[in-house]
Amino acid sequence: MTYSPFRHIPSILWKRSPIHLTFFLTRRCNSRCPFCFYLSKKKNPPPYAKGGNTPLTPLDRGELSPPLEKGDIGGFFNKTSSELSLDEIEKISSSLGSLLWLAFSGGEIFLRDDIVEITKIFYERNKPAIILFPTNGLLTDVIGEKIEAVLNYCKKSTIVVKLSLEGMEELHDSIRGTRGSFQKTMQTYNALRELLEMYPNFDLGVNTVFNSENQGHMDELIGFVNGLDGIRTHTVSLIRGKVSDQRLKDIDVGKYQETINRMALNSKNKVSSIYRFKGARLKAAQDILQRRLIHETIVKKKQVIPCYAGRLNLVITESGDVYPCESFNMKMGSVRKDSYDLNKILKSEQAQDIIRSIRSKGCYCTHECYMMTNILFNPVLYPALMKEYMQL
Ligand code: SF4
Ligand code: SF4
Repeated sequence: MTYSPFRHIPSILWKRSPIHLTFFLTRRCNSRCPFCFYLSKKKNPPPYAKGGNTPLTPLDRGELSPPLEKGDIGGFFNKTSSELSLDEIEKISSSLGSLLWLAFSGGEIFLRDDIVEITKIFYERNKPAIILFPTNGLLTDVIGEKIEAVLNYCKKSTIVVKLSLEGMEELHDSIRGTRGSFQKTMQTYNALRELLEMYPNFDLGVNTVFNSENQGHMDELIGFVNGLDGIRTHTVSLIRGKVSDQRLKDIDVGKYQETINRMALNSKNKVSSIYRFKGARLKAAQDILQRRLIHETIVKKKQVIPCYAGRLNLVITESGDVYPCESFNMKMGSVRKDSYDLNKILKSEQAQDIIRSIRSKGCYCTHECYMMTNILFNPVLYPALMKEYMQL
C-alpha cells in the first residue's frame, strides 16, 4: 500500500503546516537553457546580438555544446560549498510533518551523488505520497541506477520522474543549448521505461517549458509524447520568472490557449494517459482546470484564486534559505540561522508578514506547482473540479 494522498484532507480546512515541499538540491547543471533562472543571475549571461540587447540562442550563435557527462560538468555552474549536507537535511526533515508532495529541483538534481540518501531521509520522516524528480535526462546511467535504488527503498511513495523535452530533436537541442541532448534524454527514457513493469509505484512523465521558440511546434511535440510507450503525463509549464533570454518570454497567449485546449481534449478523449497513483483522475481534472486558471491569470494580471504558498507550500534552496514559493523575492528565513527548525521560521514575524501579504493578494504568478495546491485545497473550486472530473 502506498501512502495515500487523502491523508491530507484536513489541510483543506486547516492550513497549519506545509504539505508540499520544493527542495532545490543543487545549482550545478550540465545543461545551458536560456530560460534558466540561475543563468539569468550569472555575471556572463549568453552573448548578446551585436548592437542589440537581446541574447542570442545557442543555435543562433552556432555554439551548441556537446552533451556533458557526470564529472565533466564543464564548470557551467560550479559546485558551491554552501550545499546543505546530509546531516543538515536530516534536521530540516525532522522539523517537518508528513508531506503530500516532495519535489526536488535544481540545477540538475542527479549531479548530487547523495540523492538516494537524501530521498531516504525524507521518506523515513515525512512519508511523502509523491516524490518528484525532474531531470534534463542527460546522465542516463546515473539516473537509471539512482531511481532504481529509490524505487527499491521508497515502496510506499509514488516516484515520479519528469524528463524535460522542449521540442523535437533540433529544436530541443537548440533550446537546451546542448547538442545531442534530445538523443540522451530519449536514451534515459528507454532506460527508465524498463523499470515501469517492475515497480508499480513508478510514474514516468515529460515536462515542456512553453516559450516563444517552441510555441508554434507544440502539436507535433504533444503527438510525439503521446506516442511514447509508458509516458503517463505530459505537463506544459509556461515560461516564467527571470530568464537570460527575454525573447523566450514573448509568447502568444492565443497559442498557449490552443495548446491547453488540445491537452484537455486529449485527456477527455483518452488520447493521453494519466498518472498511475491513487487519485490520478482527480489530478488530471485539476491539471485541466489549472491550465484555464493560468490563462485567466495571464489575461487579468492578478491573483485569480487565493494562494496558499507559505502555509501549504515551502521552498528551501540548496543553501537553506526558505521561501513560500519560487518567486524567490519573499525570504522567510534561513535554516542555518534558525537551528534547522522550519516551524520556528514559519512562526517568525517576517514569515507571518509575508503570509499576510500573500493572503491580501499582494502578488500573482502562473507557477503550476502552487496552482495545484491552490486548487486541490480550495473547496470553492470543487464544483468546477468535479465538472472536469466527470468528463474524464
Ligand atoms: S536544466 Fe534546469 S538548471 Fe540546468 S540549465 Fe536548464 S533550466 Fe537551468
Ligand atoms: S501567487 Fe505566485 S508569487 Fe505569489 S505567493 Fe503564490 S506562488 Fe508565490
